[in-house]
Amino acid sequence: MRLSLENRLTTLLRALSIRHRLIASFVLLSLLSLLPLLVSGYISYAESSREIERRTRLFATEVVKQVAKNVQLQMAEVETASEALVLSDGVQAALARYAVDDAAEKGRARAELTKILLDSYGSFEDVSQKYFLDKDNRILDPQVLGQLGGTMERFAAAAPPRHGRPHWGALELWGGQKSLVMLRQVYFKSNNRLAGSLFLGVRPLYFAGIFDNVQLGEGSDIFILDGRDGSAVVQARERPNGAPLAAGLLAEVGASLRHGQSAGFAAYEDVAADGRGRASFRAAYTQIPRTNWYVVSTLPNDSLLAQAQSVRDKILLIGLACFLVALALAYLIARSISAPLEKLAGIMRATEGGNYGLRMDYTGRDELAQLARKFNEMAGNIGQAHEQLESRVAARTHELELANEKLATLSMTDGLTGIANRRRFDAVLEAELHRASRCGQPLTLLMIDVDFFKSYNDFYGHQEGDACLLRVARLLQAHARRAGDLAARYGGEEFVMLAADTDLETAAALAESIRLALEQAGLPHAESPIGCVSVSIGVATLAPDERQSAEMFIRTADKAMYRAKQLGRNQVQLAGGRRIAAA
Ligand code: GH3
Ligand code: MG
Ligand code: MG
Repeated sequence: MRLSLENRLTTLLRALSIRHRLIASFVLLSLLSLLPLLVSGYISYAESSREIERRTRLFATEVVKQVAKNVQLQMAEVETASEALVLSDGVQAALARYAVDDAAEKGRARAELTKILLDSYGSFEDVSQKYFLDKDNRILDPQVLGQLGGTMERFAAAAPPRHGRPHWGALELWGGQKSLVMLRQVYFKSNNRLAGSLFLGVRPLYFAGIFDNVQLGEGSDIFILDGRDGSAVVQARERPNGAPLAAGLLAEVGASLRHGQSAGFAAYEDVAADGRGRASFRAAYTQIPRTNWYVVSTLPNDSLLAQAQSVRDKILLIGLACFLVALALAYLIARSISAPLEKLAGIMRATEGGNYGLRMDYTGRDELAQLARKFNEMAGNIGQAHEQLESRVAARTHELELANEKLATLSMTDGLTGIANRRRFDAVLEAELHRASRCGQPLTLLMIDVDFFKSYNDFYGHQEGDACLLRVARLLQAHARRAGDLAARYGGEEFVMLAADTDLETAAALAESIRLALEQAGLPHAESPIGCVSVSIGVATLAPDERQSAEMFIRTADKAMYRAKQLGRNQVQLAGGRRIAAA
């Protein structure tokens, strides 16, 4: 089972080139070794994100609490000053006069109270509105515009029972801008009965200073939210594009208000800080005691996690860079192995094709270098062996050619005399007959027979007979001087001579010179009437326009030769009956 799996894997791998296998192994290896880095990077990113969120939550919650406390302190300042004012003798006396049911007295009391307020708050520019109301919540100052006065009177009437403590709220006094207002009930010191109320409108800027030193980070915001209508009553800066507060945030705060919670931490969606698209935010909020106000601090999630994200991005970048470097290295290493192998395979193919001169150019100390060295040695040996084989084959071929030539010569040569044999003569005769007729030239054939040779043999012995035949052959050979002449042994003691481009006269002269030369050689022949070896010669000549077969041509010459025998031997007879007389 294990073996078959291994076999299958091996088969699968062998379908890939070595280069691809190496690259794949490097890539797998680098991915496997990078995996722990990436996983631990991701885990640490997730953990640090959680930790950052936890700390931010703690910090932001602490900050809003602190800010709420500071707001309270500032409210307390306004409250303390206003308490001192309403308990002052001037105010108490004026209110007491106002309580008297006398119109003139009331008028004077009104003027006095207005003057006291002007004196007290005229220099305090953060208090923009200051009015006394009677115990029925009517404005005492007759100069107040009807609409403004109505707003204040309604606010006072709607204020919850407050048992002497000031009530704070946000009120749109004019121009759509909200003012923070404080309403404080005034009691007569003498009988502790309700005398009226003091209404103060405080500019939001008075509280905004608290936010000056609060810095929660890039894109963060801090403001005071009116829990009843969800509007921002005091804010550190304008919201982007004047956008309304995020519905998600208001819903969160509203829910905690309903559940009676005074603080919380919310996640919500809002317009991104750059005004484009939406982003996720976190907000810490806490209620300012005795009010419906919440100090809210918001922070975009992105900047919250920016550091952790940058670490995560760096890890990813390092991972990617390592992977790319591994990939490049994998390619180079794979190439350093596969390229020489491919080259070696190419050289081997060329060697197989007969090119033994190619060598593998590869230096180093690795297995490939050993392979290249061994291959070069082997190719050298094969080349050498091939060369030796080639030269041996060439030598053998040459020898064979020589032997063939010799064989051809031998097959065309007469063994005893060394001149052309009958076979050669037959071939040359055929060729010369063709040539003569083609070129329109005469052709001559001499038929030569040794006289009384039987008796020569009988007298001198066969060996001497052979020697005699050799002498005759040499003599004939000596007379075959021209390129077109051929002397041959026709058989036994008969010879022939072929003379190309030779007419009858010349032929007759040639035959006679042969006969005469032999006679003059004077080879002794005891059994011959003339005492020496002689020949009888028949001459046949084909005229340029004459056609004849080889057989007929030979027969004609033979006939002439027999006539020479009959007419006494040692003579030349021409075909047609003419004898060439001895000189
Ligand atoms: P003629 O003058 O009529 O030609 O008479 P001849 O004796 O020469 O003719 P014949 O045909 O009767 O005899 C030819 C002889 O030649 C017979 C044979 O023994 C001899 N002879 C043939 N070939 C050879 C050979 O190769 N060597 C030797 N020594 N003798 C040969
Ligand atoms: Mg004969
Ligand atoms: Mg003879």
